[in-house]
Amino acid sequence: MAGAELVVLGAGPAGLAAAWRAARRGVSVVVLERADRVGGMAGSFEVAGVRVDHGSHRLHPATPPSLLAELRGLLGDDLQLRPRNGRLRLGGRWIGFPLRFGELAAALPRGMVVRAGMEAVLAPLRRPRSDTYAEVLRAGLGRTLYESMYAPYAVKLWGLDGDDIDGDQARKRVTADTAWKVARRVLARPSDGRGRVFYYPRRGFGQIVEALADAAAGAGADVRLGTEVTEVAPGRVRTGSGDEIEAGRVFSTIPLPVLARVSRPEPSEALADAARLRFRAMVLVYAVHEGGRWTGFDAHYLPGPETPVTRVSEPANYRLSSDDPADRSVLCFEIPCEAGDSLWNAGEDEVATLVHELTARHGLPPVRLGGLEVRRLPHVYPVYERGYRAYLEGLDRWASGLDGVTTFGRLGLFAHDNTHHALTMGFDAADALGPAGFDAAAWSRARERFAAHVVED
Ligand SMILES: Cc1cc2nc3c(=O)[nH]c(=O)nc-3n(C[C@H](O)[C@H](O)[C@H](O)COP(=O)(O)OP(=O)(O)OC[C@H]3O[C@@H](n4cnc5c(N)ncnc54)[C@H](O)[C@@H]3O)c2cc1C
Repeated sequence: MAGAELVVLGAGPAGLAAAWRAARRGVSVVVLERADRVGGMAGSFEVAGVRVDHGSHRLHPATPPSLLAELRGLLGDDLQLRPRNGRLRLGGRWIGFPLRFGELAAALPRGMVVRAGMEAVLAPLRRPRSDTYAEVLRAGLGRTLYESMYAPYAVKLWGLDGDDIDGDQARKRVTADTAWKVARRVLARPSDGRGRVFYYPRRGFGQIVEALADAAAGAGADVRLGTEVTEVAPGRVRTGSGDEIEAGRVFSTIPLPVLARVSRPEPSEALADAARLRFRAMVLVYAVHEGGRWTGFDAHYLPGPETPVTRVSEPANYRLSSDDPADRSVLCFEIPCEAGDSLWNAGEDEVATLVHELTARHGLPPVRLGGLEVRRLPHVYPVYERGYRAYLEGLDRWASGLDGVTTFGRLGLFAHDNTHHALTMGFDAADALGPAGFDAAAWSRARERFAAHVVED
């Protein structure tokens, strides 16, 4: 049985950041990744000769400067600073996104603007009547803004009515959760460019994780692709091909409920908690558009209930790259769903119809379809259904008590985090590996910092 001081489960941003940092400090590291490529949800691949991502991905300006400096060191000039150029469908019209005050006011019916304005003024007097997503946002933003934008989007994204979702989802997932924050975003220009610009690598978002994986391997880490973890027991990890790896310590970034399922001895209570935590799945449809770029926008946001698609992105518009072909573009349609439902199981013909109907009904240019590729991701959004907290706390208590195992990453903590959060967690986990063993106090301080993460859109 071969072994390593550190075995990392999952080669997404969190696992790779930890592997790189630990390997640079001379720790022997093995990374086990089920997929045949690195990056997890932040990885890229090619469709019709165009590099594409798993839905719209940008590196946000909220990325801590020290982390940004590390990434610049890896990517050099390939890490481009780009202006955001998205738009959002509201009230049957397209308006610029991130929102601008004039456009927003012009797009909404006058009565609605007046109501939303009055509700914003009265916001300080309102308190949520219960700790739900709907109540937190109705109190913070006002009923009008909530009902027109956030309520239908919640149903599409998470498959639940806002009244059935815990208030945490609003606090962690909606950056502008009060009328004041919305106003500041719409009217002001934050000095760090938040909401106006983003970072993006010339060869797709996945260039970040590919560079990290190369750097980790260069520092001595052994990154094994196509290697599913099927069992985690004290001091050892077993893979799908039956290999056993002795592990001084395990860093797990695989979904927390999956860790419970593969742990030995079987943790019966943790398994019961794991069964109560839900993930939303996503179908990603990549449509090849023949004849050049489809639009000049990077992303089109669709919060309304008329279509199950939440966003359409055109990856080539996220970057400046002479590698992108001039005669075609690839579009990515994001469709949140439940694993196993009718959207999840939709065949190519149904998906093609959905694409055509969407463009015809929403004032989008027709797609001159040159091909379709569909990817299905089972664990995309953690769902904070009311009551989830008790199950997550139970599962987290169990995981924190595992000898020699540390869990982190977006799915490892059942959090909605961005890539920069996942990378930060990986670095913090590696930093807690001291010569005298794992520094539990440092890790507990890091976990407190992670609790303050709020997702950027
Ligand atoms: C549609 C969408 C859009 C997003 N947009 C943005 C954005 O614009 N900006 C941003 O910063 N972030 C964005 N994110 C979030 C970003 O993708 C995640 O924060 C990031 O990928 C999390 O990294 P991670 O390493 O924690 O997890 P993951 O990327 O999920 O990596 C976990 C890895 O574990 C592997 N794994 C799972 N089970 C096993 C097993 N049993 N054995 C071995 N390996 C296993 C998986 O294959 C995967 O590679 C978006 C996410 C989605 C879904």
